[in-house]
Amino acid sequence: MDYDVIIAGGSYAGLSAGLQLARARRRVLVIDAGQRRNRFAATSHGFLGQDGRAPGDIAEDARRQFMAYPTVQWLADCAVSARKEGDGFSLETAGGQCYSARRLLLATGVTDELPAVQGLAERWGTSVFHCPYCHGYELEQGPIGVLATSQMSLHHALMLPDWGPTTFLLNGAFEPDPEQRASLERRGVTLVSQRVRRIEGERADAVLVDGRVVALDGLFVLPRTRVAGTLAATLGCDFEDGPLGVFIQSDMTRETSVPGVFVCGDAAMPFGSVALAVGDGVRAGSGVHRSLIFDTH
Ligand code: FAD
Ligand code: MG
Repeated sequence: MDYDVIIAGGSYAGLSAGLQLARARRRVLVIDAGQRRNRFAATSHGFLGQDGRAPGDIAEDARRQFMAYPTVQWLADCAVSARKEGDGFSLETAGGQCYSARRLLLATGVTDELPAVQGLAERWGTSVFHCPYCHGYELEQGPIGVLATSQMSLHHALMLPDWGPTTFLLNGAFEPDPEQRASLERRGVTLVSQRVRRIEGERADAVLVDGRVVALDGLFVLPRTRVAGTLAATLGCDFEDGPLGVFIQSDMTRETSVPGVFVCGDAAMPFGSVALAVGDGVRAGSGVHRSLIFDTH
């Protein structure tokens, strides 16, 4: 076997897990495709000790500290397939490399699927967001929109008045019942039933189909999420339904339904954040390590 563990995904979750294993002097290969989920945002918030830093700077510091350990290697590539082989796994990359390891750890994150509204995608991470804790405060209590994508958007719309006067753009995706209308009214939320034609302007103004413009400093939307890549599916890992999309099912040590395959970070939970990914990596890293010592698969 080339390595004790191969970690697919070298962002917050994967590096945090890798750090635990590196500190146990295990042979670790991290393969990373360089597409962090928050790469669209200039600043990252809500992670204690790192509040307001550039997300890439946090990741780069983490990578530098991890790479200082002698038993680790880094490969900038994409893991495209993996299968069980003997008492471990073999894995292939898009670049045509093949490696073997006793354990696999999937830290590949998720990808966001935004609704097809013109002007939305190019504002993702600058004036269009999904997480109010991450980016709500910086809007300085200016006007905020919530673009409905499903029933879940009701929750979003009820929360956002804590960050600014809120307009709920139903856009044909959700219709509140009388009770839900009453709770929205109690929170001071303005309802707009007209569909949104496009998002425009320096921030995130919503242009409705009749041409009316709702001026907004920020727009919140809950995208569907998809586990990045096909590794988990091809390995036969079970998935679990979350409110915004499926994630990879795992136990308390973060081992998946396939013995020897572990998961951590956004790919392993219904909602993620940088801090949760880092914490989850610690759990998975020590899970992998203990399994190397105590489990024979
Ligand atoms: P990611 O950071 O997404 O990293 C996954 C890595 O795996 C990527 O580098 C990817 O390229 C790689 N990868 C995927 N598939 C493969 C493969 N097959 N082979 C090799 N590599 C692969 N959270 C906060 O706490 N604060 C914020 O302010 C904040 N702002 C955000 C802003 C935006 C616009 C978005 C979309 C999210 C934001 N988040 C924020 C959430 C945060 O980005 C995620 O929770 C966090 O990045 C999850 O970390 P992760 O390591 O699980 O996955
Ligand atoms: Mg086990």
